[in-house]
Amino acid sequence: MKLHIVFRGLLFLFFCFFMATVAGQSKGEESIVLKTVVIDPGHGGKDSGAVGRHNKEKDIVLDIALKVRDYLRKYLPELNVVMTREDDKFVPLDERARIANENDADLFVSIHANSITNPRIYGSETFVLGLHRSEENLEVAKKENSVIVLEDNYERKYEGFDPNSTESYIIFELMQNVYLDQSIGFASAVQNQFRNRVGRHDRGVKQAGFLVLRETSMPGVLVEVGFLSNRYEERFMASENGKVYLASAIFRAIRDYKERYDARNSNLVKQKPKTSENVVTELDKGPSSDDTAGIQYRIQVASSQKPIKEDEGPYKYFDNVWEYKEGDYYKYTTGLAYSHEEIEKILPEVREKVPDCFIVGFRDGERIIP
Ligand SMILES: [Zn+2]
Repeated sequence: MKLHIVFRGLLFLFFCFFMATVAGQSKGEESIVLKTVVIDPGHGGKDSGAVGRHNKEKDIVLDIALKVRDYLRKYLPELNVVMTREDDKFVPLDERARIANENDADLFVSIHANSITNPRIYGSETFVLGLHRSEENLEVAKKENSVIVLEDNYERKYEGFDPNSTESYIIFELMQNVYLDQSIGFASAVQNQFRNRVGRHDRGVKQAGFLVLRETSMPGVLVEVGFLSNRYEERFMASENGKVYLASAIFRAIRDYKERYDARNSNLVKQKPKTSENVVTELDKGPSSDDTAGIQYRIQVASSQKPIKEDEGPYKYFDNVWEYKEGDYYKYTTGLAYSHEEIEKILPEVREKVPDCFIVGFRDGERIIP
């Protein structure tokens, strides 16, 4: 009888040991794939963010973020997508970071739109956490961080950080960002998508001291999809087409990052995990699925063997000039549309200034028309 109890006891211990081993293994396996992404639409509620002629940053970035969420849930159902807000409400920066940390997120994507006094400046840029290398980058961080003054007890919560004082940003010089490489990798993927697939002017991957990134303990970026202070870009970001294109670009960057992440980690353990590999969606072609999907139409207004300075030639006549290089020539275009009919609508006003202008079309950054 006693022996039986001892045996049962041993069996129970063995069972516990076995379960612990299994649990340990499954936890290890889980962590080798990218499983949770946090999408953070900037601002909200009493905090409008940047304001354009007709649109507020908080509304545009929420629409884009909700589309990113829907694409991820549809095409990568195994991925856990967590939102910091899904409606027009005020969420403090530390609360956004807490949501990401408590959900053990593997990637944090904060979505914003920019504004600047010079209305001619436009384009997309993606920030990672670090010390700013230029005044301009510092200004973006100051603007985005200054929302904390709308929070209760912000001096205490952020340990005396003054978002508007340049001195406060010195702390970012000494800070170690252990996720820098991964964050830069993802930021580059976002910018590549914006440049090659959405035809945005690429302002690059940059570094600056964003509080929301400082408080999160995982790779993360802050995407500035475009400038509300530029009327063409505002119009693009506010349009349904523009939102779909920007959101599908962010979706593809996350999908590609997950593929690389999962593949790299599966090689490490020599075991093939369930990955999102080869998930090709209609978003790879563009929002519509006919033959012309994914083509960006522009109007070519100048060509030169030397690059034209940003206050000369076409830049004097048009706000949204986009340069591309072909052979030995620098070529300059204006306007952007996703169908021939749409670009034809703006052709007459461009022709008034440049009579010999013509329509050009690009796919994946390559000119295919004419
Ligand atoms: Zn913002």
